[in-house]
Amino acid sequence: MEVVAGPMFSGKTEELLRRMRRATLAKQTVMLFKPVRDDRHGTTDVVSHDARRQNAIALDSSSDVEKQVAQAHHRPDVVGIDEVQFFDDDIVSVCNRLADDGIRVIVAGLDLDYLGRPFGIMPLLLAHAEYVTKLNAICSRTGRPAHFSHRIEGGSEDVQIGGAESYEALSREPYNDVVVRDHHRGATAE
Ligand code: ADP
Ligand code: MG
Repeated sequence: MEVVAGPMFSGKTEELLRRMRRATLAKQTVMLFKPVRDDRHGTTDVVSHDARRQNAIALDSSSDVEKQVAQAHHRPDVVGIDEVQFFDDDIVSVCNRLADDGIRVIVAGLDLDYLGRPFGIMPLLLAHAEYVTKLNAICSRTGRPAHFSHRIEGGSEDVQIGGAESYEALSREPYNDVVVRDHHRGATAE
C-alpha cells in the first residue's frame, strides 16, 4: 500500500496519475476510483490542478471499490484512489484487503483539514501503508514549501469542495498568522 499525502495543490493527483500511467506502460491492469462527492470535475475523470486527467470510476461507498474490483473483466494489478479522505471509514479495511490480495494500492489524500487537524482516516492509512510520500505545495505568500490548506472563503463545514477560489496553500508561519492559534492544533477531527 502506498499513500500520497499533502495539502491542496501539492501535486497528489499528479503523482497518483503518474504512477498509474507508469503501471499502464508496464502493461499492468489499473483501476482508478474517486469519491462521487468530489464532483468538481464531473464523475468520470480524475483531474489535477495542472489539467492532467485520467478516466476514473466515481463511487459513493468504500464497499463499491471491492465490488468493482471483483466484477472487473481483468483483475487489476493496481488500484488507485484519489481524494481518499472523503470515503467512509471502512476504506482502511478495504485498502488492506486489496493489498493482502496482492494488489498494489495507491491512495492520494489530504493529510490535514483546513483547520490543521488530521483528516479523518488518513492517519490510519498513513500507518498501514508500506510507502508514504508527503508532498508540499508552494506557499502563496512566502514561496516556501506549504503543508497547510487555508480556506480563503466559505463556511465552516468540515467538507467544502473547492479549488483555488476557496483555498490557498500556506507554510507554517503565515498559516499560524491567519488561523486562530491553539484552537485546533493537536486535536483530532471528530
Ligand atoms: P493536489 O491533488 O495535491 O491538490 P494537483 O496534482 O491537482 O494537486 O495539482 C498540482 C499542480 O497545481 C501543480 O503542478 C501546479 O501546476 C498547480 N498549482 C497551483 N497552485 C499551486 C501551489 N500553490 N503550489 C504548488 N502547485 C500549485
Ligand atoms: Mg488532487
